[in-house]
Amino acid sequence: MTTSGHREYTNGEVTIVWKSDVCKHSTNCWKSLPAVFNPQKRPWVDMQGAATLAIIEQVEKCPSGALSYYMNSERQKP
Ligand code: SF4
Repeated sequence: MTTSGHREYTNGEVTIVWKSDVCKHSTNCWKSLPAVFNPQKRPWVDMQGAATLAIIEQVEKCPSGALSYYMNSERQKP
């Protein structure tokens, strides 16, 4: 599930990949969408905190590229 410094979080529909070694701690994600991204909590990403589309929109705003995502349905093809 994880490789060095990479963590994945899913809500069953979309999976977020977070690369801790790339994150610049710009705070964008948790200031804009604190219901999902909360560095005070463990795990710090709560995939139940917002709808899939809202999560994807926030991931796309990550300035460092530390956050990315894939749709689970795309990874389940044979
Ligand atoms: S927006 Fe990206 S760079 Fe900024 S804290 Fe979140 S994951 Fe890290």
